[in-house]
Amino acid sequence: MHNSVIQISKSALKNNIDFIKSLIDTSVTLSSVIKGNAYGHSILEMVPLLQEFNVNHFSVYSSFEAKQVFKVAKKDFTILIMGDISSSDEDWIIDNSIEFFVFNINRLKKMLSKAKEKKKVLNIHIEIETGMNRTGFNQKDWIQVIQLVNDHKDFIKVKGLCTHFAGAESLNNYVRVKKQQIVFNKAIKFFKTQEIEPQQIHCSCSAAVLAFPTKNYDMVRVGILQYGLWPSRESYIAYISKFKINTNPLKPVLSWKSYIMDIKQVPKGDFIGYGNSYLAENETKVASIPIGYGYGYSRGLSNLGRVIIDNNRYSVISTINMNMFLADITSNDSIAINDEVILIGSSTDLDISLSSFCNMTDQLNYEVLSRIDKDIPRNIIK
Ligand SMILES: *Cc1c(COP(=O)(O)O)cnc(C)c1O
Repeated sequence: MHNSVIQISKSALKNNIDFIKSLIDTSVTLSSVIKGNAYGHSILEMVPLLQEFNVNHFSVYSSFEAKQVFKVAKKDFTILIMGDISSSDEDWIIDNSIEFFVFNINRLKKMLSKAKEKKKVLNIHIEIETGMNRTGFNQKDWIQVIQLVNDHKDFIKVKGLCTHFAGAESLNNYVRVKKQQIVFNKAIKFFKTQEIEPQQIHCSCSAAVLAFPTKNYDMVRVGILQYGLWPSRESYIAYISKFKINTNPLKPVLSWKSYIMDIKQVPKGDFIGYGNSYLAENETKVASIPIGYGYGYSRGLSNLGRVIIDNNRYSVISTINMNMFLADITSNDSIAINDEVILIGSSTDLDISLSSFCNMTDQLNYEVLSRIDKDIPRNIIK
């Protein structure tokens, strides 16, 4: 058994998928973004669950992740690679009609020559540079892509035309994103006049679905909302004030639980843990929990984090170690070795949210989630 367990709530996932579907038109395809091991939830566990809820389009970052999806997905699914393709996976991608972003003419040429040899068709999504300046074809290169595609219609199918916004989760970026939308529209028009008819035009991530619900085109690529978290605090506040609601429509899918490995008494006046960051100002009862930064429990939670044991909150004391951290349980006499410790999640009355972690450690929820050790078992619960 592992020293902790991640629970994946099926009903929370269903709730969030229903919520996302309520935000988009029925004609719009929901592509489930499951990069970063499904934001720490586990690709292998999430794909079958998502398919149960009729989500069959999966966007991943790399060909490595695409292969994981392929292993567990059941019929009628689509895999879209938004980022990296390792050269050893190129044949596999072509043989299995895996879709992929194209943002570099040489990559397209290389894949094209392989497809020709195999007499197979490439399923590409042309990524347009609209202002993020990360990946995507700049306007000056559009015509070159178009020519290559039009000259090889038997081997290239333009499945999509797409872009990504540089921070739709914050009003700070509003003007920049608006400019991106203008460039994207220009690209759509231009490609169409050049006889390229992409099946799916797409640009919206979670934040864009929330901020620009009428600009979803044919597909949305939604990650964070599925897992029951908001792209940013700002996007949450904007949503609840727009719809004048005061409850969070999302439910967190993931909880993380460990247990007490040992308990000991520390005399008043001693330092606890490495160095002198924590002084026992009174006689202190210390519980050790076999989880640390090596499993994704951030070191930034040193002397700051909270855990739930026996339906009460306790403070993390001293520094988080690689494999262990300590909590002050002086106030409770009934806690014993092996008692459950909730790191993220809720008890009968209390809750430790992932976003509270983020506030304390100045990390994005995306960051905390994707760092949770992939070897921790994921158990699916109701
Ligand atoms: C991660 C990612 C998304 C999904 O972002 P969320 O904010 O999690 O919805 C969409 N598109 C691209 C290109 C991405 O990299």
